[in-house]
Amino acid sequence: MFLRVEWDGFTATCSLQRSTSTTASRAISLALVEKLLLEWYAHARRELPWRGTTDPYAVLVSEVMLQQTQVDRVVRRYVAWLKRWPTAAALAAASPAEVIREWQGLGYNRRGVNLHRAARVIAAHGWPDDLTELPGVGPYTAAAVGNFAFGRDELPIDTNVQRVQDRTRSRFTSASAQALMDLGATICLARVPRCERCPLAQRCPARGTRYPPLRKQSRFEGSFRQRRAETLRLVAEAARRLDELDREAVTALEADGLVAVANERVSLPA
Ligand code: SF4
Repeated sequence: MFLRVEWDGFTATCSLQRSTSTTASRAISLALVEKLLLEWYAHARRELPWRGTTDPYAVLVSEVMLQQTQVDRVVRRYVAWLKRWPTAAALAAASPAEVIREWQGLGYNRRGVNLHRAARVIAAHGWPDDLTELPGVGPYTAAAVGNFAFGRDELPIDTNVQRVQDRTRSRFTSASAQALMDLGATICLARVPRCERCPLAQRCPARGTRYPPLRKQSRFEGSFRQRRAETLRLVAEAARRLDELDREAVTALEADGLVAVANERVSLPA
């Protein structure tokens, strides 16, 4: 026997067999939570430039940029990147030096190099079925590109999505991916969630809970990451003599393919 529950344009079908009524009612409850979420998203969604496309290359660019950089900082850089290199083939034809210079300021520069390598793979062989075969693409990014560009039934689970799932004790479908990201980024915040504005509040067991401060990210000032970034900035300006630079940082940058060293001179890779 099947129980079919319908709301405006939203349907949950639950199988009722012997002792499965509890399972069915849980499924209905989850479907209701997801319906509330999607209704909220329909009017509260953030308008972000990568949301208007299903072009896998554009989605990949946005996801790689967003891996470790905040949305506000990514928007302008994403638009500029796509203007300069609108396709994977265009990016593949660029030199590593051009890509590294364009990436400057976004941080974690290896992402730019990997994106470039991924574009070269795609330009030469097309998109692999398993997107994690692309350089710099892990399970989360693969799920995001799979969902947003290829329409795959995969839910990319980042920290925001995980937090909402944990607090609501719900497992959402892939249709809720963008909505979960927005709820986690704007309402269901890590430490003090804005439950009074949350569309799921009536059905959330964590409603009203406060959370301890997150472990602080290690300081950038004075870190090795800063030394690397500064060294790369200098080399991006102009090739330099090795003895002018932080050798330890140069070694790390060279290992990541971000600089090339020849005849005691350091330059961006050709
Ligand atoms: S009610 Fe509060 S804790 Fe629950 S999902 Fe909404 S914002 Fe998060």
